[in-house]
Amino acid sequence: MAHDKKIIVGNWKMNLDMHEASLYLHKLSQIVKVHRDVEVILAPTTLSLQSLSLQVNLRQFKLAAQNFYWRDRGYFTGEVSATQLRGIVQYGLVGHSERRHIFNESDKDIRNKVAAAIRNGIRPILCIGETAWEKSSGETFDVLHDQLIGALANITSQELDQVIVAYEPVWSIGNGQSASPSDVTSAVKAIRKQIEHLYGAKAAEAIQVLYGGSVTPDSAADYLALPGVDGLLVGAASLDAYIFSEIIKKAHKGSEVAKED
Ligand code: PEP
Repeated sequence: MAHDKKIIVGNWKMNLDMHEASLYLHKLSQIVKVHRDVEVILAPTTLSLQSLSLQVNLRQFKLAAQNFYWRDRGYFTGEVSATQLRGIVQYGLVGHSERRHIFNESDKDIRNKVAAAIRNGIRPILCIGETAWEKSSGETFDVLHDQLIGALANITSQELDQVIVAYEPVWSIGNGQSASPSDVTSAVKAIRKQIEHLYGAKAAEAIQVLYGGSVTPDSAADYLALPGVDGLLVGAASLDAYIFSEIIKKAHKGSEVAKED
């Protein structure tokens, strides 16, 4: 099923301080009009989320947490919970490869985070993808299978409606080495097949699947045109409001709606 709305996520990672984040949002809101056919989601650092939540026009952009802890409250020094992010963000990244590989997040952590997000009314954007070594060993589909099973083990069919999956091959993140259209098409097909196996054909059609990995304004349209790709997760190219707006424009096909202040 082709979704009417494309999703474009900007993951700023550990970049932009609070002042820069606020200026960025101001600039982006001047450049990008409200598009009914594109959901634009900004994922700043946790530090900037609250102030941006007061500044953002939710008709224009939504906010995502890059990370959160899965317990709702308690003795967990330095952590922020999905419960605490309720009402501040609409989405949350889960299982980003930098969290899996630099911070050693396990399948269990990721499963708990998917559940915590849903429990707290936050839509999880579940990132999955193989490393270069796994790709060269022919293990891509096994990795996608295992990561999906691991993350969704406690999720009901009804809850699955809230989940977005992002296919992010680890070898293509942050290095300009984007995946080929045929790699992305076959990975997205494998993801939907696995969802069909777990939740049935309707769920497999309905789930929104994104691609992420060194997307630029030049490559965005080609990825967005691939069958089964509902949007993009963008890292480096989202750090400049103008460059990011060029990617958003590629996702926008319908009529522009004048921005309402
Ligand atoms: C990401 O951070 O998820 C990402 C895809 O980064 P980049 O676009 O820089 O590869």
